[in-house]
Amino acid sequence: MSESKRRVVVIGAGLAGIAIALRLRKKGWDVLVLERNDTYGGKLADFKWEGYRWDRGPSLFTMPEQVDELFQLYGKDPRTHFHYVKIQESCHYYFHDGSDFLLEGETARRNKALLSEFGSEYGQAAINYIEESGKTYQDVGTIFIDRPKFGLKNIFDRALVKRYPKLLSRKLTNSLNNWNERKLKDENLVQLFNRYGTYNGSDPYRMSGLYSMIPHLEVNLGTYFPKKGMRSIVDSLYDLAVENGVEFRFGEKNLSAQPLKNGYEITTNNETEKADDLVSAIDCVTFYNKILKDSKLEVKYKKQERSSSAVVFYWAVEKIFPQLKLHNIFFGADYEAEFAQIFKTKTLPDKPMLYVHVSSVINPEDAPENGQNWFVMINTPAGIVPDDLQREKLKQYIDKLMIKHLGEGVRNAIRYEKFWDASKIEMDTGSYMGALYGAACNDTMAAFTRHGNVSKKYKNLYFVGGTVHPGGGIPLVLKSAKIVSELIES
Ligand SMILES: Cc1cc2nc3c(=O)[nH]c(=O)nc-3n(C[C@H](O)[C@H](O)[C@H](O)COP(=O)(O)OP(=O)(O)OC[C@H]3O[C@@H](n4cnc5c(N)ncnc54)[C@H](O)[C@@H]3O)c2cc1C
Repeated sequence: MSESKRRVVVIGAGLAGIAIALRLRKKGWDVLVLERNDTYGGKLADFKWEGYRWDRGPSLFTMPEQVDELFQLYGKDPRTHFHYVKIQESCHYYFHDGSDFLLEGETARRNKALLSEFGSEYGQAAINYIEESGKTYQDVGTIFIDRPKFGLKNIFDRALVKRYPKLLSRKLTNSLNNWNERKLKDENLVQLFNRYGTYNGSDPYRMSGLYSMIPHLEVNLGTYFPKKGMRSIVDSLYDLAVENGVEFRFGEKNLSAQPLKNGYEITTNNETEKADDLVSAIDCVTFYNKILKDSKLEVKYKKQERSSSAVVFYWAVEKIFPQLKLHNIFFGADYEAEFAQIFKTKTLPDKPMLYVHVSSVINPEDAPENGQNWFVMINTPAGIVPDDLQREKLKQYIDKLMIKHLGEGVRNAIRYEKFWDASKIEMDTGSYMGALYGAACNDTMAAFTRHGNVSKKYKNLYFVGGTVHPGGGIPLVLKSAKIVSELIES
């Protein structure tokens, strides 16, 4: 790599680590990615059992053009490396009152269904709400997620000041739930749009109504699914990175870094590495705790309220439930009580919402002909892990909901089971308390207090990934890498 100008070490080979490695390598720099696990991908892992395949973490894929952009950066046609399809049916919702609603992906079909299911007044209110979600995203969202974080110090930045009339609206000061109640009125529609609060692991009864922009990504821009599953996002990007000279080292379980006058010294399993720039692509709390050993900053970011974690059951189901789509939601009895348990009492919800994802609906090779690969997720407080008895109760509850809504239970058809919980998520990916998205966005100022992309204390230290600005989830993680690559001078 003699042509390279600078040496960068990236800690963590999740999506964020691979994306920033690709972007910095494109500048002609030496890029070394150090990963604790034996493979890349972080939360975008998968596993198999006798003809079944499950993606372990993310399942909802929006803004695929951001993955494409990384191939285009290297002059490649993304379609020869990474394939995905647009999903026609966004999500099938099952409400506590026994009714259900299929949220279509295509606008005309969706609008027709909203009007016929919820009536002309409430159906039209939902159509207007979705339109407004797009406007809020354009007016306010883009200024936050496409550029470095605004600190409290630059709240008078011109770009931000221009947006104040839209930003400082009733949406900001109302909770998402209050905003949804004002706009939608129908109880089931309010619940449906409250659910988008969980897309960054937050509480719709506390987070700002400005997050009513989240549905825009899914409903207006559309949802997609990779033809070889979510894992293929990182498989294809990892191959691209290796092909273009990014160096990866796995099994680096005891990394630490010391700042030097110019750059960093990184202690690995067997040697020390020097770097001009250091990029953290892991949970920022874990980075301060394990890598930089800066207890002050560790404590500062630990104090921020965590986003939710989850219990996920992965089931090999030897049966076809034809009603199930790729994404299905089964609401519990009391949504407000569920979030109070997750964020206030920090206990496992008694009657939680279930998210059931079945990728074999779209990718038949993910399950045998007579089966389905179920992924059943329940939101839980960060750091809280169900014991055997609680898991058994959850399974009984899931079965009851399936009998109620699908007419039959699933338990007798389960041939194999695995589960993930807050403790395993922390162990496997280094996420502090197993939180899915780092700090929660429950506080009105959350966008300003989230960890930024560049260190204020250490020179040449940068941060990407789901726990820093602009946020968690695949699209924002990819945006964090783009922001950092633009911040680091060439
Ligand atoms: C169950 C679940 C469901 C989700 N659903 C969705 C969804 O549907 N859609 C969506 O967009 N997002 C979803 N997310 C969030 C999404 O997965 C994350 O925001 C995203 O994958 C984070 O990527 P990352 O690279 O920042 O972190 P990670 O994927 O966590 O990668 C971090 C990497 O750093 C490594 N590492 C950690 N500590 C160290 C260390 N000390 N030294 C070296 N390496 C280290 C880890 O091993 C890992 O490989 C979900 C997450 C979970 C857990």
